[in-house]
Amino acid sequence: PVDIFPGRTNSQGWDWTDPRDMDAIDGARNDFKLAQSDAGPLTVGARSGAGQTSVISPFAPQDCVGTVQLASGDDAAEAVIAAKPWGASASTRAQVLLKAADLYEANMGRIFALLAREAGKTMPDCIGEMREAVDFLRFYAGEAAALKGDARGRFVCISPWNFPLAIFTGQIAAALAAGNAVLAKPAEQTPLIAHFATSLLHEAGVPKAALQLLPGGGEVGAALTAQPLVDGVCFTGSTATAMRIHQSLAESGNATAPLIAETGGLNAMIVDSTALPEQVTRDVIASAFQSAGQRCSALRCVYIQEDVADGLVEMLRGAMDALRVGDPWDVSTDVGPIIDAAARGKIAAYIDTARAEGRVLHEVQAPSEGTFIAPTLLRVDGIAQMEEEIFGPVLHVATFKSHQLDDVIDQINATGYGLTFGLHSRIDDRVQSVVDRVHAGNVYVNRNQIGAVVGSQPFGGEGLSGTGPKAGGPLYLTKFTQSSGAPVPA
Ligand code: GLU
Repeated sequence: PVDIFPGRTNSQGWDWTDPRDMDAIDGARNDFKLAQSDAGPLTVGARSGAGQTSVISPFAPQDCVGTVQLASGDDAAEAVIAAKPWGASASTRAQVLLKAADLYEANMGRIFALLAREAGKTMPDCIGEMREAVDFLRFYAGEAAALKGDARGRFVCISPWNFPLAIFTGQIAAALAAGNAVLAKPAEQTPLIAHFATSLLHEAGVPKAALQLLPGGGEVGAALTAQPLVDGVCFTGSTATAMRIHQSLAESGNATAPLIAETGGLNAMIVDSTALPEQVTRDVIASAFQSAGQRCSALRCVYIQEDVADGLVEMLRGAMDALRVGDPWDVSTDVGPIIDAAARGKIAAYIDTARAEGRVLHEVQAPSEGTFIAPTLLRVDGIAQMEEEIFGPVLHVATFKSHQLDDVIDQINATGYGLTFGLHSRIDDRVQSVVDRVHAGNVYVNRNQIGAVVGSQPFGGEGLSGTGPKAGGPLYLTKFTQSSGAPVPA
């Protein structure tokens, strides 16, 4: 990646293939393999609550990871009133966020254990997630000092389960770096990791009135966005929910409050006959199946030029057979579970329909117990055949003839989404013309198309995939501010 901020460094993380790092990681997380975690609202005022639930590991029904006190709609309303924008200077805010990044790393064992047990994250995913979270904290801390605008006031941050630490932290860090108060509503599936991260942010020095946590389901998010005192919303999740939030803001008299939304995608890759087959195989497998395909950036439909399609599909079959699907705690696992039984059921039904239609090109073994889906390859005529994003390890393969390239790009653009796009080609002119024509926020050439790096590859989509500005980029914080009323110094 090209570093657009020279002198800035990203987290180096841990090399889990190095036995020295591996022993340290393993030892640290083992202490928390059986630990119970408790979570609940972290708010300023009294709370009524909406009952308690247990968090059960997605792949191990006997593993109760902890209990959660859920917030009620009343708690949400009270928290918004009690919220106080962070009045500290930009440099103090930056120092506190930097301290939080260090605290995250110091608590790596507990965080990795929670990511694996609560969210089913494999070891490479845990490391990537931790690195992205601390990169967000340090990057926005660095940006805070250069900010021109003023805080807006109260920001609601609604985050997804697929990056329960990184996206949860990124949204909050951005809003706080700009001096806002945050009301954070983590995904219903991953409240424990959110609770622990929030406690570290408080420990680092973020005032309680500037960061409140409200665990719960969609009704808590809806209660928050309906409050007239809310000045902005930052959301990552489905396009449909983003539209509902937009409507709710308008109905609560907040039509001008910004909604920063990162939503779904129907991401494609084009592979022409000049691409290097081994490299394509590696990059397609990573883009489609890492994180069990539960990334909004994941590759959903690969278009392969007809001349090389049979050979490439054969190589993909071989690479899929080598994937280990199973317990995310096991360091040799490549593909972990689907987040919950409901999500698993939806993906399984989709594959069953494709199987009945004779469109399965390949599928591999997955454990029959737990919420696993085996990586699966399906044949399609084109991306238009896919009505919605299937959020799992399912890759669609289409073929095209050389003269159909423009038509393929039109098909991809016609989905209306525009998050990530991949291209494998060794013809420079073609690369340039395809990149110029395709509508996507993040375009990757001759590499995989997941894992955008904070500060080097700002991440976000176009069209139905999001509002921008891109996370981890130079413009992101501006949307969390408003123009200053102060006179320009002479
Ligand atoms: N930023 C992540 C990536 O580049 C994806 C984020 C998401 O799935 O929401 O892979």
